[in-house]
Amino acid sequence: MEETLDCRLQKMAARLKLTYTRDHLSELVDNVDRSKMSPREMLDYIFGKEIEKREANHYKQALMAAHFPAIKKLKDFDLTFQPSINPGIIRELSKMEWVETGRNLAFFGPPGVGKTHLAIAYGCLALEHGYSVRFYPAPLLLALLEKAQKEGVFDEKLREINKPKVIIIDEIGYLPYNHNLAHLFFHFISKRYEKKSIIVTSNRAPSEWRLVFSDQQVSDAITDRLFHHCSLIVISGDSYRLHQQEMQNQNIQVQ
Ligand code: ADP
Ligand code: MG
Repeated sequence: MEETLDCRLQKMAARLKLTYTRDHLSELVDNVDRSKMSPREMLDYIFGKEIEKREANHYKQALMAAHFPAIKKLKDFDLTFQPSINPGIIRELSKMEWVETGRNLAFFGPPGVGKTHLAIAYGCLALEHGYSVRFYPAPLLLALLEKAQKEGVFDEKLREINKPKVIIIDEIGYLPYNHNLAHLFFHFISKRYEKKSIIVTSNRAPSEWRLVFSDQQVSDAITDRLFHHCSLIVISGDSYRLHQQEMQNQNIQVQ
């Protein structure tokens, strides 16, 4: 049986990896026809659709690869609740120039003040700017480095882990790390130094990191490099979690 022209076009679109055209051929042709497009307008319309689809797919894949525990956006962060944060800095950082120059971001403060929220929000912005991003809870990153060391593949693993342009390390400081882990972390930091960005969150001020990384010298070497080219944001306000809890309790009492 003879192949229809539509079938042939779909097969050619598939071979050319024009998946939008392959899947929406009739719709595209109808729109071109209905809108009476010139040949150039038609090409512009079809190429535009292909690019739109490809970029959306790419963003979806990059978002999955980032492993965010939740999606948090800058627009959803209530700056009025945290007067200790300078809104000008938040706005300046959202231009994302710091990623281009391999600068770091660090958020410090007690639990619930929005450190992880802001770290993920800048991670999302980085993705929107086309940068690759990966989120790690600090214990997971250190466990991965230690496992690679035990298996004798530390350098390869470090190269692989270091690929993303932005790495978020969440919650440094909740657990103390032994001498070996501190050394492994230092290697990790050194490899990215002045090249690729790191976002860290911590409940401990930099001066207390000596308590986190048991070795004082290694701890100093880590903080030296990590905070050399870094925007430090210290949040000293109340916990948003507790605030939300209180609001809920008030609502229950009113009802
Ligand atoms: P931290 O990492 O400092 O412990 P989180 O970032 O996990 O705190 O914040 C706790 C919860 O409160 C999250 O759901 C977060 O989205 C929300 N949150 C914190 N601060 C704010 C804020 N200023 N505006 C809106 N939501 C906030
Ligand atoms: Mg957190």
